[in-house]
Amino acid sequence: MIPMNLQEKYDIIVAGAGIAGISAAVKLARNGASVLLVEHYGFVGGMSTAGMVSPFMKHLVNGEKLVRGIFEEIENEMIELNGMIDNGFYASVFRLAAFNLLNEAGVTLLLHAEIVSVKREKNKIKSISTLIAGETRTFQGEIFIDTTGDAQLVYLGGFPWRKGDEKTGYLQALTLFFRMGGIDVVRATAYVKAHKDDFFPWMDYNFDLSRIISVAGYFRHVKKAIKENRLSDDVRYIFYTTLPESGEASFNTSNILNLDGSASSDLTKAEFIGREQVHQVVRLLQDEIPGFENSYLIESAVQIGVRETRRAVGDYVMEEEDITKCRKFPDAIARGCYGIDIHAQRGEENRLDEILEGEYYEIPIRSLIVSEAENLLVAGRCISATRKAHGALRIMPTSAATGEACGSLASLAKINNCKIRDVKFELVKQSIKHNLSSK
Ligand SMILES: Cc1cc2nc3c(=O)[nH]c(=O)nc-3n(C[C@H](O)[C@H](O)[C@H](O)COP(=O)(O)OP(=O)(O)OC[C@H]3O[C@@H](n4cnc5c(N)ncnc54)[C@H](O)[C@@H]3O)c2cc1C
Repeated sequence: MIPMNLQEKYDIIVAGAGIAGISAAVKLARNGASVLLVEHYGFVGGMSTAGMVSPFMKHLVNGEKLVRGIFEEIENEMIELNGMIDNGFYASVFRLAAFNLLNEAGVTLLLHAEIVSVKREKNKIKSISTLIAGETRTFQGEIFIDTTGDAQLVYLGGFPWRKGDEKTGYLQALTLFFRMGGIDVVRATAYVKAHKDDFFPWMDYNFDLSRIISVAGYFRHVKKAIKENRLSDDVRYIFYTTLPESGEASFNTSNILNLDGSASSDLTKAEFIGREQVHQVVRLLQDEIPGFENSYLIESAVQIGVRETRRAVGDYVMEEEDITKCRKFPDAIARGCYGIDIHAQRGEENRLDEILEGEYYEIPIRSLIVSEAENLLVAGRCISATRKAHGALRIMPTSAATGEACGSLASLAKINNCKIRDVKFELVKQSIKHNLSSK
């Protein structure tokens, strides 16, 4: 896997090694394709590691997993490495687990490589160029999979994409994750139980300290700190998930508004604002929240968490009602049961839907095939969807499932020496049946 002798040409090139790109690349290599996975960081995982996002969101229906396959293998590897409890995990263990899977599968992984341009001829991408420490390298491929999160190959290749809300242009809020230790979880949860009116109504107060616990609220403390200019008025609540028996918790709390996670100057501003907010929240917790008296900041994420930027326009665009009405498709490649979740900008309301218990929606293969393109697929955060549908589809389990489906489709096109749209759907279905089999 270590790219001692990089080739100039690969069957399939996967751009971006987040959970979607990892899943696509492992599937491709196992199916016998020569695959180059290109990643800008010095490690894999994208939002799951650089963004420190955890836990995996809901993907269980009637106690059965909707997403299995490579996603489940990543989970199992993390459990084996002692780095995953319930649905939560450590970023460093994700990096290692995914690296092991890529290595075993025989993927050629190129790290520290930023894709800076794409060569397009008619409706085909012919090659990508990367910049590595000032050196430009060009790689040709037959099929390309865009798992950059920001649809960067789509954008650089001049294929169709959308960004933000169709009417207002709003993008979801940005969040810098951080982790704290030294928390007295017994005291902290006792306080929460005694002040239920200061927390979200959806919270479950049957705290089992041997499991991951979610706490969200402290509204009065947040309001007071904002009034006293100790906290940015963009922060709306404090949200953390504890790790069992460890005194540690991971915080999804900072809230950075009106900035675009795919614009360089905005990203720079967001990193500054995010780190300032983390500092403010840590101080607030240490100074006045019971259970946090001796707590300390362990680490904040390598980069700001970006929920939403560009989405590809595919042969099918997933819509709000596909999610809310739990639509099924004859060419389904994945299933989900996470509702629409929009972290609002100024001027709009937060939205967090629940899918009816026991129900799920499906994602058609057409939403992975980029419109107007002959050899370009997308998976994960840049899937073809409206903003609202994207709010449900963007989570890690679904990103892994769409990545694996792209890997399956691209390798079958290679094996059968045909165009991606001419691959017999039954063959794809057969190779990812574990993600279509529950119920
Ligand atoms: C704050 C926040 C909270 C979230 N909470 C949850 C949660 O609790 N549970 C859940 O399941 N999901 C959650 N999500 C959603 C989820 O984390 C992401 O949507 C998902 O991880 C996206 O995976 P991906 O592989 O599509 O993209 P990413 O993880 O973004 O990976 C893209 C990769 O491409 C690389 N890349 C980009 N451009 C280039 C380039 N030009 N050249 C080379 N490499 C490039 C990046 O470095 C990155 O590694 C959250 C997201 C955020 C931001």
